[in-house]
This record gives sequence, C-alpha cells and structure tokens, in this order.
Amino acid sequence: MTTKSDATVVRLREVTKRFGGVEAVRDVSLEIRRGELLSLLGPSGCGKTTTLRLLAGFENPDGGWIEIDGRRVADGGSAPVPPEHRRVGMVFQDYALFPHLTVEKNVAYGLPRSAKRKNRIQEVLALTRLDGLGNRMPHELSGGQQQRVALARALAPEPALVLLDEPFSNLDAALRGQVRSEVREILTDAGATAVFVTHDQEEALSIADEVAVMLEGNLVQKAPPEELYHRPATREVAEFVGEANFLSGVAEGSCVRTALGEIECRGASGGEVEAMLRPEFVTLSKLPEQEYPGCEGTVVGREFYGHDQLIKVRLDCGVEVSSRLGPGPGFRVGSRVSVRAASPAVTYPGG
Ligand code: ATP
Repeated sequence: MTTKSDATVVRLREVTKRFGGVEAVRDVSLEIRRGELLSLLGPSGCGKTTTLRLLAGFENPDGGWIEIDGRRVADGGSAPVPPEHRRVGMVFQDYALFPHLTVEKNVAYGLPRSAKRKNRIQEVLALTRLDGLGNRMPHELSGGQQQRVALARALAPEPALVLLDEPFSNLDAALRGQVRSEVREILTDAGATAVFVTHDQEEALSIADEVAVMLEGNLVQKAPPEELYHRPATREVAEFVGEANFLSGVAEGSCVRTALGEIECRGASGGEVEAMLRPEFVTLSKLPEQEYPGCEGTVVGREFYGHDQLIKVRLDCGVEVSSRLGPGPGFRVGSRVSVRAASPAVTYPGG
C-alpha cells in the first residue's frame, strides 16, 4: 500500500528533448515523491530549464514519457496534455504578476468561480504570510512579498506540482537567505510537491529535500543534500557541488595511498584512483608543534571569508591541497605545516 508521504507524484522516463542539433535533455529518468522539494541544479546550459518546461507542458519531449499525479501528460510524439490541464502551478523568475490587478485578484486568477473561492483566497494569503495585503497593487510590495504573491497564485488551485524557475535570482544577497527559508516553510505548510531550478549549489543544498544534478543534458545524480555532498557519484558532481581536492592514488581494499599518506576510502576498491577530499576534512597544524604525524608542506595562499578561511598548501612532494578552517588565527603564507586527512576519501576510477 502506498501512503501519502511516499507516493510518487512525478515520473519521467527516458525523456529526451532536442533543439535542432542540441540534445538539451538526454534520457532523463526521475521520480518525485509527494511533498518533496526537489532542486534541479547544474551549470548554465545543462538542461534544467528545459526539464522544468517539459514538466510544465511548454515543451514536448521527442522521446520518453512524463506522468504527473498518475496521469500520462506527455508521451514521445503523441499529443501532450496542455499546461492548463496538468495541475501544475508555476512561479516565474520575474514573478509575472498582473501589474494592474490587486494582490487578491492576482491570486484569484486561475481559481474557478465558486462559493469557496473567497475562502480559498484568504486561506492562501494567510499561508503565504500576506494577510492584510490583499488590496495592495504589486508595485506597492517588496521583492520578497511579490514573490509570495506569485507563490500564492500558484498554490491557490491546489496543484499536484509547483514549479519554480530560479525563484531567488531577482533578490539581492541580503534578502535571499531569508526569502529562501520562507518559501521552504510555505511549501512545507502547503504540503506541496515542488521543483525549483537553480545554478547555485548553496541554495540547492540548503533548502531542497533532494537535489538532482544535471550536466550536459544528463541527470547525473539525485540524492538528499548530505549524500550528494559527501558521496558525489562522479568526479564532475564532486567538482560542481562544493569545493574538492583530488589526489591521485592507488587503492587497496578500503585504503588509498596518496600524497597525504594512507587514507581510508569509499568507492573504487583497487588500482589507480582519484581520491576526493573536501577542504574542511584537510586539517593543518603548525610545525614543529604538530600533535600527529602528517605530510609536510608550505602555505602558499590564504583566502579569509569571515565565517571561515581557505588555506592553500603545497606539499613537499609538489601536490597542492586546500584546507578550510574556522575564522581563528590563520596560517601565514610561507609558514610550514603538517597536513592530514580527517575523513575517508571518496575514490573514482583513475585516468
Ligand atoms: P540556464 O541556467 O542558462 O538557464 P539551463 O541549464 O536552464 O541553462 P536550458 O535553458 O535548459 O539550460 O538549455 C539547454 C540547452 O538547450 C542549451 O544548449 C540551450 O542553448 C538549448 N536550448 C534551450 N532552449 C532552446 C530553444 N528554444 N531553442 C534552441 N535551443 C534551446
């Protein structure tokens, strides 16, 4: 028996979309559970917007099929279900509010005339923390409030799926963090299943339940944020999501021999590999007061960010590694340090 929380709302199976000679989306298979907030993450041109538009019905796949809420909405060449009949709500990057309509009228747009209409508008305004602002015009609202109106309008007809196209890119950095968590809370309160597109990995990791990484039209990995960060499926995902040190090495069982000595590893079990270590798991101690044996090297760079700092070290064997440390007193460029891996490495087949 399927329960409400684990029911699959969206299924894409081997979906392909071409524009002339460009395969924008290639054989993408993906499932989204009810109530899940999924981020489509990837660099510019990787196919994330096209995937969103395929779900919305603004594009039709050349191959594969899409199901939303148990209904086949697109299937290869056959006639697709039009956007307005897919039970999908859309929040556009520029919000696309009607400038000449009040907040209430914007939200009412798309709701059928019925006795419950007025109640639903008030319900959604409360859900999106817009109570009391129903009679304002869009230009009388802040950027964050305008976005909540767009979200309210998308949520009002109780869609099976909400799609958000780069929802935070129009907000300045100071507002973005706050609006992100508000949108996350609203979607959770509404019990909505949602997909949002972003190229910002911090944004994806901090608010999504699941992150789907796309690279060159392919869906490379879909996983919860922690898994994606700590166990990236490929070297390319490791590089795109966060910062990474790659060390060539030779794996034997659960260990890999690298320029940083022998490190425990997960992944490839034998032969030449590349070992990936996040900078925050590379620890430094000053020579000669080191408390543990490590490899030795010289600090060649330091970037101070306030909440943390990134120290670049050239090991005596010539290999460079980065270490992320707290904001305390740093290691000056030129100082000698002992370097150690403080976590298992993830290994990928070596080239
Ligand atoms: P961005 O972050 O820059 O918006 P994206 O990951 O969302 O990028 P898409 O917009 O999905 O990428 O584009 C994927 C590829 O398909 C790109 O090479 C793009 O140039 C191409 N493409 C997208 N839409 C069209 C179109 N209507 N006509 C022709 N090519 C297109």
